[in-house]
Amino acid sequence: MFALRIIKSTNNFVNSLPKTARKIHKHNVLYNNKPEDLLNLVIRGESLQFPYVWLRENCQCEHCYHTSAQSRILDWSKFDLNVKANEVSESENSVRIQWSDGHTSQYNFNWLKFRSFTPENQKKYTETIYKPKKETWHGKDFSNILYKRDYSDIVGSEEALYEWLHKLSVYGVALIKNTPSSETAVDGVVDRIGFTKRTHYGIKFVVQHVQNTSNVAYLSSTLQLHTDLPYYEYCPGTNLLHYLVQTVSEGGENLLSDCHYTANYMKQHHPEQYKLLTDVEVEWSDIGTEFGNDFFKLHRAPVICLDCHGEIERINFSIPQRGSHFPGPIELVKPWYEAHSLFWDLNHQFAAKFKAESGDILAFNNIRLLHGRSAYEDSSNNVRKIIGAYIDWDEIYSRLRCLKVKLKNEDGIC
Ligand SMILES: [Zn+2]
Repeated sequence: MFALRIIKSTNNFVNSLPKTARKIHKHNVLYNNKPEDLLNLVIRGESLQFPYVWLRENCQCEHCYHTSAQSRILDWSKFDLNVKANEVSESENSVRIQWSDGHTSQYNFNWLKFRSFTPENQKKYTETIYKPKKETWHGKDFSNILYKRDYSDIVGSEEALYEWLHKLSVYGVALIKNTPSSETAVDGVVDRIGFTKRTHYGIKFVVQHVQNTSNVAYLSSTLQLHTDLPYYEYCPGTNLLHYLVQTVSEGGENLLSDCHYTANYMKQHHPEQYKLLTDVEVEWSDIGTEFGNDFFKLHRAPVICLDCHGEIERINFSIPQRGSHFPGPIELVKPWYEAHSLFWDLNHQFAAKFKAESGDILAFNNIRLLHGRSAYEDSSNNVRKIIGAYIDWDEIYSRLRCLKVKLKNEDGIC
């Protein structure tokens, strides 16, 4: 058995730990590797350590790993957590291990180095392959961070598509110019990436002034800063909005705000309000009928959802789509409204203001940015019309990695 200790959280205990152990304690598990747990290797001058249990599980032989499925097929019922290396022998480019369970494994040095456990290597892999590191922005810098490519580049060049998707994932927004004036033009972009996220508003949706609408986005009045569909547990990751016809009259201006910037600002300057927005669940809702199908969507989540590292995972924000049921205790209502109001003010203060043009496809991260629009008026020969589609981040990150392997495999990913 591993000498594994599950530790009950007590501040005194945590404070008594050395700094590195405190970091490990974040996961409520403290394990100190013993010398016999680790293989020490020097690969091209660098001293690296690999846990034996990890090495044995990641044996690349045909009995343990299926090459065409690129998946582990090792039988866990026969796995020995305390497996030992009986013999370790190194050649020029690989290491061979004879295990106490009778198995033999061989590991290529490049393969091992790419998976090394050093914090530097793990950070590099996380930020270049796992997900590009996000950079936050203030509205005043919007013209510097907004990346633009022509439609013909996006559908015709993998290099252009990679750069555009990379910028979209780093900044949460990117633009396509000179899109053909067709209701199906946005499909050309979607097809290059993957496929759309279908919702009760359709595979694609049309944003146009509609009198008795099922959604306030289909009105021409001011559309307050919001995220789309916060009432979905599996919320669409990215909006693609093709401005088939933009209004030529006053209004119809876009507002975009990077909530990661706003949330970081709140965390620093208004920590109590930040905590209320990260801790208090509210209820997001959408109830109605569209295309003859009735729907009753509810999802409970805070405005700012954090992951296990305390980093922002998802933002939910919408004045119209927050329900009137407040799931928290009554004492939290007023403080929550104050925090919400501060978030609303700050996002307006930090938002970028611009006006997309006919032929633009505006893409933005729907679980990071807030978007809105000023009121506008249609005229008989100028009817504002947008074709919209959603794509999930799973598809975008997947396409980015595939393109990186194909175009820029300097890291020896596969
Ligand atoms: Zn094997």
